[in-house]
Amino acid sequence: MTASEARMQTADEPPDEPREENADAGADPKAPVRARKDEDPDLVLEHAQTPVPSLDELRAAMAWAFEGEEIAAHLLDRFAEHARVVLDGNRRMNLTAIVEPREVAAKHYLDSWRITRLLPLVGRALLDMGTGAGFPGMPVALSEPQARVVLLDSTRKRIDFVNECIAALKVPNASAVAERAEDHLARNKYDIVLVRAVSSVRENVRLLRKVRHSHKDLVMLKGPSWSREARAAEREAERLGFRLDTVWEHKLPGEMGDRAFLVYRAPGGHGN
Ligand code: SAM
Repeated sequence: MTASEARMQTADEPPDEPREENADAGADPKAPVRARKDEDPDLVLEHAQTPVPSLDELRAAMAWAFEGEEIAAHLLDRFAEHARVVLDGNRRMNLTAIVEPREVAAKHYLDSWRITRLLPLVGRALLDMGTGAGFPGMPVALSEPQARVVLLDSTRKRIDFVNECIAALKVPNASAVAERAEDHLARNKYDIVLVRAVSSVRENVRLLRKVRHSHKDLVMLKGPSWSREARAAEREAERLGFRLDTVWEHKLPGEMGDRAFLVYRAPGGHGN
């Protein structure tokens, strides 16, 4: 996605797609940082000049987004701490287009955390495939210390950043891997593969076709168009042995949009 396409995203859309970062910092401190000439001319470092909200602001935003949820106060502190590291990192590489504190709290943290309300995770091995800046993997790892969470992305720079977050927040149950999911899953088995904002349901299922025995559940975090996507994927999913088991629809606060979790039982869940 180009930077201009990224700017066109609406608040209702599922998570934003990070763009490639630009290593050359701009000479004009007020201007967005331009890409090198041989790269996409639309490519800019979107948030080089965006101020990073204070920890107090982010903590207040977490309290707002999680109002009415059963969640320990210390976890909201941890989410705010992580959000600050992400928004700080967003000034030097394009990690997220979502920077307003309440939106960050709802769209990145509440959406990710709610997975832990749906799935029993204690003792489970999880892969967050295409983690980007660390979503949903980091909030899930912070929420469930007894789950082992591997955050995987094919882009080395994003994984270097995720490793910085794991070290800064000291998250012993999380680790990060720079590899393509198809290659990683050919050698590693998981209980659950989580996927948010990587591709359509159909494309995700197709991507995993050769490694479909490597995991038991394939869980996709989706936006409002989930039913259209699920229908479009129906035949392919069935052919490959993925069975749609549970759909959990939920709403983000402040009219920030509808979301859904789709739980597919993968062929790896039967007898593996
Ligand atoms: N999951 C994050 C979120 O919800 O904010 C980031 C989503 S980002 C739009 C998609 C990420 O998937 C990118 O960082 C990209 O590098 C990664 N990705 C795409 N295909 C992949 C693959 N086959 N294996 C591993 N990572 C992949």
